[in-house]
Amino acid sequence: MSLDAAWALDWVRRAAELIAENRAELTELDRAIGDADHGDNLDRGMRAVVTKLDAAQEAGNLPATPGGVLKVVATTLMATVGGAGGPLLGTAFLKAARSCEATAWGPGELVRALEEATSGLEARGHAISGDKTMADAWRPAAVAAKEAAEIGEDEVGVLTAAAQAAVKGAQDTEPLQARRGRASFLGERSCGHRDPGAQSSALILQAALEAARDRSSDRLQVVEQA
Ligand code: ADP
Ligand code: MG
Repeated sequence: MSLDAAWALDWVRRAAELIAENRAELTELDRAIGDADHGDNLDRGMRAVVTKLDAAQEAGNLPATPGGVLKVVATTLMATVGGAGGPLLGTAFLKAARSCEATAWGPGELVRALEEATSGLEARGHAISGDKTMADAWRPAAVAAKEAAEIGEDEVGVLTAAAQAAVKGAQDTEPLQARRGRASFLGERSCGHRDPGAQSSALILQAALEAARDRSSDRLQVVEQA
């Protein structure tokens, strides 16, 4: 199995659904250490992405590669989401989009996309792991994906490792003191709360895994029927 444009589309739609379902929770996390808008910001952005992709589908004009789909995500998030979160996530998606032009991604392409996305957002935000930002979800995900690919895991295995590491990375932001972004203004008072951007990033990577799992189970059914 490799992951094509249909996977990327499914990923994006599932990510939009997960963000919508968790909008209030993300906004509450941002209320504790920010300005209570992260869930609303991202929900607005992801809805705009889905609207754009729906229009492209209707016009018979859908991107033919995963990179093409992710580029639409990037440019739409950059254009529609205010604050720090949108441009940073947009940068991550843009770097992932540019990391590979192939029509289908295997484990190696996934690893490269995650590494590029992470390095891009770290550079744009001047953030590193431990700063209590979305990089605390993306960096462990990229590292875990690479390790999984190196021991021969397939696309689902690589994304499972990435999503699990992102969830843990988001949890692990709780005790940290924020060193970047709005939360850093709170100093020690930022400790004891989960970073909203790390949490939303973990949801987005979870959606990538679910979309890949769905495709591999479709394929299994085809094999069973054959
Ligand atoms: P804003 O902080 O402008 O209100 P959001 O609430 O949408 O924007 O997003 C906040 C999230 O953005 C934070 O939880 C954090 O994960 C991320 N973030 C903020 N600043 C940075 C940065 N410099 N580098 C990386 N991520 C950052
Ligand atoms: Mg905010």
